[in-house]
Amino acid sequence: MPIKQKQIFYFGKTRTDGNTQMKQELGGKGANLAEMTHLGLPVPPGFTIGTAICADYVEKGKLSERVLKGVQENLLLLEKETGKQFGSIDQPLLLSVRSGAAVSMPGMMDTILNLGLNDETVEGLARAAQDRRFALDAYRRLINMFGEVVKGIEHHLFEQSLDTLKARHKVKEDSELNEQGLEALISAYKQIYKKATGQPFPQDPGHQLREAIEAVFKSWNTPRAIHYRNLNQINNLHGTAVNIQSMVFGNLGDESGTGVAFTRHPATGEDQLYGEFLINAQGEDVVAGLRTPRPVVEMQQWKPQIYQQLVKIKTILERHYKDMQDIEFTVENGKLYMLQTRTGKRTGLAAVRIAVEMVRQRRIDKKTALLRIRADDINQLLLPSFDQKARREVLTRGIAASPGAASGVLAFSADEAVARAEKNEKVLLVRRETSPEDIHGMHVATGILTAMGGATSHAAVVARGWGKCCVAGAHELEIDERRKTLKIKGQSFSGDDVLSLDGATGEVIRGALPTSEPDLGSEFATLMQWADQVRRLGVRANADSPSDARRARELGAEGIGLCRTEHMFFDENRILFMREMIVAETEQQRRVALNKLLPFQRRDFEGLFKAMHGLPVTIRLLDPPLHEFLPQDARAQRALARDLGISPARIKKRVDQLHEVNPMLGHRGCRLSITYPEVLQMQVRAITEAAINCLHKDIDVQPEIMIPLVGMDSELQLLREQAEDVIAATQKRKKYTGELRIQIGTMIEIPRAALTADAIAAHADFFSFGTNDLTQMTLGFSRDDAKSFLPDYLSQGIIAQDPFQSMDITGVGQLVRMAVANGRNTRSELKCGICGEHGGDPASIAFCHTTGLDYVSCSPFRVPVARLAAAQAHLSS
Ligand code: PEP
Ligand code: MG
Repeated sequence: MPIKQKQIFYFGKTRTDGNTQMKQELGGKGANLAEMTHLGLPVPPGFTIGTAICADYVEKGKLSERVLKGVQENLLLLEKETGKQFGSIDQPLLLSVRSGAAVSMPGMMDTILNLGLNDETVEGLARAAQDRRFALDAYRRLINMFGEVVKGIEHHLFEQSLDTLKARHKVKEDSELNEQGLEALISAYKQIYKKATGQPFPQDPGHQLREAIEAVFKSWNTPRAIHYRNLNQINNLHGTAVNIQSMVFGNLGDESGTGVAFTRHPATGEDQLYGEFLINAQGEDVVAGLRTPRPVVEMQQWKPQIYQQLVKIKTILERHYKDMQDIEFTVENGKLYMLQTRTGKRTGLAAVRIAVEMVRQRRIDKKTALLRIRADDINQLLLPSFDQKARREVLTRGIAASPGAASGVLAFSADEAVARAEKNEKVLLVRRETSPEDIHGMHVATGILTAMGGATSHAAVVARGWGKCCVAGAHELEIDERRKTLKIKGQSFSGDDVLSLDGATGEVIRGALPTSEPDLGSEFATLMQWADQVRRLGVRANADSPSDARRARELGAEGIGLCRTEHMFFDENRILFMREMIVAETEQQRRVALNKLLPFQRRDFEGLFKAMHGLPVTIRLLDPPLHEFLPQDARAQRALARDLGISPARIKKRVDQLHEVNPMLGHRGCRLSITYPEVLQMQVRAITEAAINCLHKDIDVQPEIMIPLVGMDSELQLLREQAEDVIAATQKRKKYTGELRIQIGTMIEIPRAALTADAIAAHADFFSFGTNDLTQMTLGFSRDDAKSFLPDYLSQGIIAQDPFQSMDITGVGQLVRMAVANGRNTRSELKCGICGEHGGDPASIAFCHTTGLDYVSCSPFRVPVARLAAAQAHLSS
């Protein structure tokens, strides 16, 4: 690529070429150094070699003459401004060299400090600083850093040599080595360098600089950097920039120091300078952990004027950047220098507080505040989390399926979990995978851990619905349910051992960790109000019980978008009747059992309608295959036979009959209602009776009956007619003459349904996209088994995201778009929503917004995430 425009950007008093808008050309670090210089802040002068030169270097494999000349020119300018010379013995100019792309990226080159030192300039530095020990220390650090970073010499070689010298000089700390010790260390380091590279350590500062620049450019294409860019789909960058800056020293004695700080507290958002500093130290000492840094506020005692200057700079930076900053600074002989500023990372809690307070301080407007917060981070506000400072021993990792934090003893079955929870024990339910049969144990557990399954496995979906922590698919777990033991990488754990689950990271941790409960604060309510004022999309919740519905409503849900009625049958009072219905041999017997279930269902629905007074409630008819309700092991089957007064053989026979090789594509969804219309009849009757009972009590009910797994319009036509007949008959039986409108719609979760949406819409008042099944069937990825190959797909960049978490917009999204358009062609007022897990994912919500859906429905705990994401979608469209 020919380089025409300016590609090396000076920053200093003489001239400053770049600014913060030029991140593409200068990288983030370089652009902000230039900007801080423009702001008049005390930045050591230097220059940035632009990203375009990286692209040129990668193409040609060497630095062009033009670039080398440009570096010389800028170096001259720098020498003039600092009054020092690069390579001079009397007044040596020393440099730091740092990489810096437009996006911060792990895997890029580490910093090199003190560049320009050699056997002669080190003595010049010693004289200038009036401290030979300091100069020698700087030199040995350069050989070490240059050796490691530029030449790839292994760190432990330098480390070993340092340890040997410390032992020989009988000292514990590096800082206790005297001049003699450091001289010996320098020659040892030089030997290591020579042995590893075959060359002596370069004495020519110009040579050092050239090699350091080339090393930064080479680091752009290390496998780690490439992998990171692929994973994060960073493909619009030319390369990294190189920042070359005159050195300032924080390790010149007790009048010097260095520190890092945030302009607001990154965990709580409190409006105060928050960070750490060390007296007499260089940058890396603060993070190296060898000495304990002191809180930045204590600088008030050390150097009150500098602290005041920093507080002023905090205000200048925040006013200018209009956001919280993460800064690095150095104090050299009582003078403050700024080395870096960038947008500071923060927790969800801090993000909300900072955004709202900045609006109140008139730094930003509401729109900026809403767009600035990562919607997903809102989730952190609603859940307990582990104390970040607590030491954690991570045993293994699974999929972070449902966030939160939980510690407890281990229960290996749902019954055991219930029994131990009754004794007030905190339990983690540990299962290979969960099924609806485990629901009572899942409910009492503080957290759920499974070896199998992914982000939409039963465990994950149920846990998210309850806001309960779940780590799923931790495949290193070896669970022996009979012996009640768990093995992780050879280590055994029994039921009395305590483990902790971090639902935000998927970590499984030894022992109990301290947790903190969420405190939402008034800023959260304010932000949600702003979000509600701008969003167009409605937000509903997936909830199956009045308590979940109430919780969802508190969190801002505007209705229930999916009530999975099957969850209602697992309660211990009704599961027996459900099983009686399933093992029944005649329709008559089935009806007898269903009649026993009817009052329970009616009560359930009344509870939901009451909790959602004035808001719509979408109730899905029975969906899962029936075998899921029957016990699979012989002992439990014998117990059931006793309870029902029939032979165990009959139960076993029914279980065998219901066995399917591929139950997800089997006898489930609307197919159950086709075979057993009496199930639909019972459920629709219960809904209608519950609605009428509520209307009598002045509860505003808006029921919506949803038929699952429809693939053909004829299925829906038939089942709709049956449902309407039941509604009419029930109204008549109950002599209800008032207005009762029950909408009837369908889920769109089979590709054929999406393809024939025009015909299906003729029988539907609404569509609700069941994107869990739609993803499964469109991609041909089993939602329960995909975890065996999904990690490979993700790590090899074949897909960018887990399609069960974030919608495959290209494929599944196309079907959704087509179904909405064709459905509304037939019925313009067709209401469209989504109730798969994607309804709580911000990227999928943005898609739903642009596709014209009316609402999204998600787990109660994701409702605030969805409210914010819906607002962001509207503001960005
Ligand atoms: C879906 O398939 O997206 C859905 C909501 O239904 P379920 O997860 O219960 O199959
Ligand atoms: Mg489904």
